[in-house]
Amino acid sequence: METEIKNITAQNSKEIFCMAGELIRKGELVAFPTETVYGLGANALDGEAAAKIYAAKGRPSDNPLIAHIADMEALEPLVKQIPSKAKQLAERFWPGPLTMIFEKSELVPYGTTGGLDTVAVRMPNHPGALEFLRACHVPVAAPSANTSGRPSPTTAQHVLQDMNGKIPLILDGGKVGIGIESTIVDMTAEPPMILRPGYITKEMLEEVVGAVAVDKVVVAKSVSELGTGDYQPKAPGMKYRHYAPKAEFMMYEGSRENVIAAIRKRQQEEQAQGKKTGIICTDESKNRYQGVHVVSIGSREQEETIAANLYSVLRDFDDTDVEVILGESFYGDGLGQAIMNRLIKAAGYKLINADEKI
Ligand code: AMP
Ligand code: MG
Repeated sequence: METEIKNITAQNSKEIFCMAGELIRKGELVAFPTETVYGLGANALDGEAAAKIYAAKGRPSDNPLIAHIADMEALEPLVKQIPSKAKQLAERFWPGPLTMIFEKSELVPYGTTGGLDTVAVRMPNHPGALEFLRACHVPVAAPSANTSGRPSPTTAQHVLQDMNGKIPLILDGGKVGIGIESTIVDMTAEPPMILRPGYITKEMLEEVVGAVAVDKVVVAKSVSELGTGDYQPKAPGMKYRHYAPKAEFMMYEGSRENVIAAIRKRQQEEQAQGKKTGIICTDESKNRYQGVHVVSIGSREQEETIAANLYSVLRDFDDTDVEVILGESFYGDGLGQAIMNRLIKAAGYKLINADEKI
């Protein structure tokens, strides 16, 4: 199959949206930009179309998809009920980077929800995404448009790297704004529970609906913290290795100076063994390291820039011959937590405490 890329930022993109909508209604896949990352869309009401998403991504079939809608009227048919707190959150944060989990209606096939009785729904805040969704006339199930396990795509070129020959159409809206996936909140729980951290933080949610709980998978720093017993993350996707670059990747936490010292020491050790080493650091620490592959992901003062750069920095390492990547940690409860959650998973939970090492 040939994959077409169509620019949708021009004035006269109406025909492209019409064509994309037709493809979706015919049960085909279309990749499209949102404000978080690029999505790989299919008709959410068509289990067979949703199955194509799993095939194109190589995604485990128990990892459910998020249904994307363009207006509130589209929510009602998908869910059994809309809790009042969900209405409040929708009013405040939709369209925006917030996904809410509801009890699903009969209309939503299990092929979309990974066999669950709940459905995840989001209204993206991106003009191209909204116009595309309106042209579809059906809710669009869409996970991130990457091969399962790889960093999520933040440009149409990233999508092409993973989906070339597998899908008919990529809508190119340029680089996305936020760069990490939506916050997921389970509205079937009381209090509502964050299953995946994102741009919308716990504090922002609590301002609107009062207490909000956090699933332990969100803050876990090691697989062992999750326990080996019967613990199952409520967002099934959280249990899989994600966002991973091809090189071996490990993160360092601890005081700033100890982290820098530990990374420099490890870099020397790896290089002594002939291994090409890359470093992911920040503007504040970049001049403390030496080497060709020292990449600043942004300033610690501007976590929004770090979120926006995160996945392209990880992907760009795949185009180099770097074999080992050493990364600095991020802290905090807000966006820092969402960034760190992605990095720890990208590193397969390889997190080294530099304060202990020194
Ligand atoms: P992605 O868009 O690729 O980040 O994947 C969607 C994420 O939403 C995955 O982590 C899923 O596990 C999560 N998700 C989707 N539907 C549900 C649901 N019904 N319950 C819990 N998590 C969900
Ligand atoms: Mg994903």
